[in-house]
Formats: sequence, C-alpha cells, structure tokens
Amino acid sequence: MNHAGHHIDGAVRHQADRTAEVTDPATGRVIRRVALAGAADVGQAVRSARAAFPGWRDQPPAKRARILFRYKELLENNAGQIARTVTEEHGKVFDDALGEVGRGIEIVEYACGAPELLKGEHARNVGPAIDSWSEFQPLGVVAGITPFNFPAMVPLWMFPIAIACGNTFVLKPSEKDPSAALRLAALFTEAGLPDGVLNVVNGNHEAVDALLTCPDIDAVSFVGSTPVAEHVYRTGTAHGKRVQALGGAKNHAIVLPDADTGIATTALMGAAYGSCGERCMAISVAVCVGDDTAERLVATLTDRIADLKVGPGRDPDNDMGPLITAAHLQKVRSYLDIGVQEGAALVVDGRRFNGPAAGDGFFLGASLFDHVTPDMRIYREEIFGPVLCVVRADSLQAAVELINAHEYGNGACIFTRDGEAARYFTDTVKVGMAGVNVPLPVPAAVHSFGGWKRSLFGDLYAYGPDAVRFYTRRKTITQRWPARDARETSQFAFPSGA
Ligand code: NAD
Repeated sequence: MNHAGHHIDGAVRHQADRTAEVTDPATGRVIRRVALAGAADVGQAVRSARAAFPGWRDQPPAKRARILFRYKELLENNAGQIARTVTEEHGKVFDDALGEVGRGIEIVEYACGAPELLKGEHARNVGPAIDSWSEFQPLGVVAGITPFNFPAMVPLWMFPIAIACGNTFVLKPSEKDPSAALRLAALFTEAGLPDGVLNVVNGNHEAVDALLTCPDIDAVSFVGSTPVAEHVYRTGTAHGKRVQALGGAKNHAIVLPDADTGIATTALMGAAYGSCGERCMAISVAVCVGDDTAERLVATLTDRIADLKVGPGRDPDNDMGPLITAAHLQKVRSYLDIGVQEGAALVVDGRRFNGPAAGDGFFLGASLFDHVTPDMRIYREEIFGPVLCVVRADSLQAAVELINAHEYGNGACIFTRDGEAARYFTDTVKVGMAGVNVPLPVPAAVHSFGGWKRSLFGDLYAYGPDAVRFYTRRKTITQRWPARDARETSQFAFPSGA
C-alpha cells in the first residue's frame, strides 16, 4: 500500500501523523492512506507558492506557454495511467475516466494560448496625445479546492489557466481520491515548471479552512457541494480573497411530444446513469410534456435499464461502476425509500440489479421514479447517484417554470425537433448551461463553465475566458509624453477625451 502525501516545492512530502483511508469503491478495500494537512503543512505549501511567485510572474507568457505545451504532451502520453488511477480510487468506468482526462487536456491546450490571452487592450488617442491600455496582471497565490467526482478534470479546470496567467497555485484535492492530482503535479514538474509554482496539499476541511483564512492566499477557486461552496465563498471573501465557488445541481431534461423517444432515451441513459450519476451535469430529472410522452419514455428507459451493466470500472464491458463510499451508497439508497414514502412510483428499483453482490464494493443499480412532483425531497435535493425522476408537465412553459423555480441552476436541456420551442427554452431557462438535443451541455474549453442561482457563488465561471479574468487583475495605464518644451496651463475642469 503506498501513501498519498503532498507535492510541495516540486517534491513529494510524506506525512504520517494524520492520515485517512483511501478506498477502492469497487472492492470496498482500503488501498492506501492519504495525508491530512494541518495549518502548518498548508503554511509550508503557501510559503513555497509565495516564494515562487515573483519569478513566475516575470516570465514572459510565451515561456510559460512553452512549458504548458510540454505538459500537454506529457498528459497525453500518460492519459491511460492517470485514467486507471481515477478508476481505481473513484470507481468510474475506464473510458469515462479517459474522457475526463481528455477534457482536462483541452483546458491545458487553451492555457497554451497565454500570450494571446494576456495581450491586453489598447486605445490610442483617448485624449490629446494620450494613449491608454489595460493589462491583466496575475493575482499572486491562488488556492484550488476540488471535489471527488472529477479528480483529474476539475483540478485541470483551474491550475493550468491560473499558472498560465502568472500566478502560483496550491491545490487541495478531494481526500477520497487524491492520487490523480499528485500525478498531475509530478508531470508538470517534469515538463519544466519551476518548483513551488504548483503545490498540492492533501487533506479535509481543516486544510480548506487553513487556506481560506491564510493571508497569503489571494484567490480561491472551489468546486463541490452547495453548502461547502457557500461556506468557502463567505469565509474566503470575508478574508479579503477573490472567490469563485461552484456548487451542486439538479439538472432537468425537457422531453417534448415531438422528440424522438429513442434518441432521448439513449441520451438520458448516459446522462442520468453515466459515472453512477455522480456528475454535477448529470440529468436527474426528465420533465415530460404530456402523459403520452412520459409513458413512452418510461417504457423505453425501463427496457434499456435492464441491459445496463454494473460492475468494476476496470472491466471494459461495464457501463456503470460503484458509488464513491459506503456512506454515500447508504445515502442514495435512503432516497429510494424516501421517494416511495413521498408517493412517487419506483418503476425500477436499483437495489435489485444484476451485478456484484452487496459487500463487494459500493454498487447500486439504476433507479427510475415516475410521477414525481416538485414538493418531493427526491425532486428538490441533489441525490448524486443513479436515480432519474420523471416529472410530468402540461406544456413547455410549465416545464421551463419548473426548472426556473428550482434552487439550482447548473444545466438543463431540451429534446425536440421544434426550433421555435428550442429557442423559447434557451431564451427563458434560468441555468448557466443549456443544451438542445445535447444532454450534457458541458461548454467546450473556449467557453466557460458555471451555473446560476445556488449552483455558483461569485461572478465568474470556471475555465475559458472567465478564468483568465478571474485569475488576473485589470490595470489600466494612461500615458502621455508632452513635448520637452511644452508650456501648458493648469486645467481645472475635469478632463474629457474630446
Ligand atoms: P464536497 O463539497 O463534499 O467536497 C468538495 C471539497 O471541499 C473537497 O476537497 C472536500 O475536502 C472539501 N470539504 C468538504 N467538506 C468541507 C467543509 N465542511 N469545510 C471545508 N471544506 C470541505 O463535494 P464532493 O462530495 O467532493 O463532490 C460532489 C459535489 O460537488 C456535488 O454536490 C456536485 O454537484 C458538486 N460538483 C459541482 C461541480 C460544478 O461545476 N458545479 C462540479 C463537480 C462537482
């Protein structure tokens, strides 16, 4: 059993005094221990990042980009190995893990454009012989705090762009699956990143709170559940930091009567049950417009669920792996009882599935509820498991109102062949990411990722152009070079451009 320590100042640091277990969710067995940093360990990582900052800030963006290009190549060459680590600790099927690494690499590709992204804005002759420009300067030391469900991709949403912008970084990954982040950091060092520019401290809420209150941290990027996101946002901003905190979700898919049921079913199977429903963009509610639409969809989903293969993620035949922990398995199972008590129809009960027996890991089959109503807890709360709720609505307008009334506003999609309906949906739905016949509308790397309402605390989204703004501070310089012999009188009127 190896040990997941920290990555500080370019080297692995072991810490044996405070540790937690890391479990393979497919077997339920402890596979390693992870260090739990306290304030002293966090302080060491922050000092390393602070010391590295001036040198890194002063590197030309093109030099930073060259290291990022090497990093991208190393990530591509090691994608399989990183994905295997993700499957081992998280449980998701290998292809899904490989997909997550690929999406992370796309962010590194975007960050390779640092010279273009940072070139600023220039305006000539804003006044008589006066030019001005805005430049985007790094903030200093940025902390990133990430969730268990994308142990490679979400860290890669953050540090490549922060570092491309000239910041140094301290990453605190999820203590449930810490190894992928350590590998990402080791590869960046191998690519030529100077020591201290990227540090990884492992730990739990104690390490997070140490980062949030540390005076030497300038900004915090957080991704995780809404209660913790709110805590991070409030504590971080109260300590003078710039904070973006992405939270939980309950993503709806509207299915209109004209949608192709087969296409919608195929899309919803992956979106609801892929990664065991442990995705912040997972579809957990299907809103069917009209009873006929609902009957058709429930029937086809039921058939398809019967074919779903549940088992260890390392077996390429499986579609769905285990949940992350025994406690989370119990939580998701408890929602099946809650839904039944609330009066929803449990059409498919995931507790009865063909797969590894209970005790052989944290497995649960796919579940399908019909006749779910907006007052039910299974509708209101984020379950974060393989549970899809079908809600029936009378009209497209009623379906959109339902989404708009929900506390979360991460993503939503619509299945239809009607362009006018699709346009109404994208115009009026209150979410940050909308899909038309696209079930998981995760924005490409050239856009930015984030939700509305209680799915995001802060103003700027993750990665893409918003991340460049989040990780930099605008400075606007106004410059005039008067002629050597100019004789001028003082102006007492407020200067204008004209
Ligand atoms: P989590 O909130 O439990 O943990 C996230 C991070 O916060 C971890 O690093 C953890 O160590 C730390 N943490 C946990 N409790 C804390 C506390 N009380 N104080 C300070 N820090 C604490 O989330 P999770 O279970 O790891 O991940 C699943 C959640 O993340 C889901 O709610 C999911 O929707 C959300 N998520 C959101 C997005 C998004 O982009 N909006 C993306 C991925 C995951």
